[in-house]
Amino acid sequence: MTGPGHRPADDLRALLRVTLDALDAGRRDRSGPLPAGGPAAVRQATLDALGPGPLLPRTGDGEAAALGALTRMLTAGSADPADPFCAAHLHCPPLAVAVAADLAVSTLNPSLDSWDQAPAGTTVELEVVAALAELVGFDPAHAVGTVTTGGTESNLMGLLLGSHTTGQAAVRSRARGRSGPRAHHGRPGPRAHLGRAGRGGSTGPVPVLCSAAGHHSVRRGAELLGLTKVVAVAVDTAYRMDVQALRAALARHDGPVLVVATAGTTDAGAIDPLAEIADLVHSHPAPSWLHVDAAHGGGALFSRRLAGRLTGLDQADSVALDLHKLGWQPAPAGIFLTPSRRGWSRLEAEIAYLNPADETTAGYTSLLGRSLRTTRRPDAFKIAVTFRALGRERLGAMVDACHDLAEHAARVIADHPRLELAAPVTLSTVLFRYVPAGTGAGTEEGTRLDRLNAAIRSRLLDDGAAVVGRTTAGPEAAVHLKLTLLNPAATAADVSALLALVAATGDRIVAEAQP
Ligand SMILES: *Cc1c(COP(=O)(O)O)cnc(C)c1O
Repeated sequence: MTGPGHRPADDLRALLRVTLDALDAGRRDRSGPLPAGGPAAVRQATLDALGPGPLLPRTGDGEAAALGALTRMLTAGSADPADPFCAAHLHCPPLAVAVAADLAVSTLNPSLDSWDQAPAGTTVELEVVAALAELVGFDPAHAVGTVTTGGTESNLMGLLLGSHTTGQAAVRSRARGRSGPRAHHGRPGPRAHLGRAGRGGSTGPVPVLCSAAGHHSVRRGAELLGLTKVVAVAVDTAYRMDVQALRAALARHDGPVLVVATAGTTDAGAIDPLAEIADLVHSHPAPSWLHVDAAHGGGALFSRRLAGRLTGLDQADSVALDLHKLGWQPAPAGIFLTPSRRGWSRLEAEIAYLNPADETTAGYTSLLGRSLRTTRRPDAFKIAVTFRALGRERLGAMVDACHDLAEHAARVIADHPRLELAAPVTLSTVLFRYVPAGTGAGTEEGTRLDRLNAAIRSRLLDDGAAVVGRTTAGPEAAVHLKLTLLNPAATAADVSALLALVAATGDRIVAEAQP
């Protein structure tokens, strides 16, 4: 099939038309933001479209037939983030320009593990990293980074580089029999007293201090790296890390530490007080590393209105961003950044078939040492195209539009007799629950409310009417509902209508339960 002069674009042109037509048809098949009927019905419809017969038949149906039928099925069976009533997760409607750029990458199939698989892609990634480093406030001439599969991988890398660096520093200070003055970002650190590591005492894994509202991937990453000591730091009533609680935790752990702060918590969108946290971490007497998980909130950097909420982010030792959230990229578009080369030696490797030293020296840059992965598509390309196409102003306006929607939702909830707001709006997440008239206090009432809110969400899912988030919140870990508003094309009227539907669904379930 592939001969000299073969042009993949020629094959693709006809198939693209099939794909686009099927996307339209599938959307019409689905009447709302997700397929109706509940999980069993959706499963059956999916199996029907994949069949009949084995998925890997002896002879296939042909490209256009299979692509058209299955794309229509996938579309009809999708939760569509472009529908204003799809608002449960950090699941954004991707920009068409980024999707198209992604198609170019899929067609060319470059891989960043060696220069000869991605001659231009290598430079594109380095430039995207530099642009994002500048946005974060790092010096782009010294910053190092990589494009990742998302916050999960970026958090793992932060813990990896952080534990490597603090562990090495601890070994060095043990070898010297004392903790010398440490340098951080080129600034001399405070003269250290003899921490546990300095005394050569505890040699257990470096503890990871993370707020109770931190993302589950932090705990998972720590486990994978053998960092078995994860300390949950308390949060305040707005779900931000409590600085006094961090101070106390740091005092209890006077050896090397990793601290993970969050800029945009998953449930409330809360931003930890980054500047105060950075000051505390960097005046710790033993080696320390501050990783900021800004997978959710990092997109606020595009917005003039909201960027100030991330003050202190530039003091981090590593940062995770996710442009498949407030960046409107098709996933994956995670970013991992550090202000300097510190820590990266952990990933360096010279592999004969990928990056022999003489080729690297001669300028054939390999990004192998930037990632845990080997084959790696240049997800930086769609980001580069998006940046050039929209500029910071338009991206910032999209962030602001989502923030406006969340502020609107909070006002509607505050004014509604049966909806109750659970946290202030910081970014574009709105945490709330339905509380029917006459609800009293007590555990039994709490259990009834939990069931009711869970039932509202399932009813909306089964009807194919809305995708509303669910989590727990508050001291009793009560079931709450959540809107994560990432669709800048949605309107205030859409959000009002969605909240009215949630309340009406609650009313209906309460009425059905009356004898
Ligand atoms: C989404 C998110 C993650 C996980 O990122 P993935 O891209 O899903 O791997 C981690 N932390 C926070 C705060 C997030 O919002």
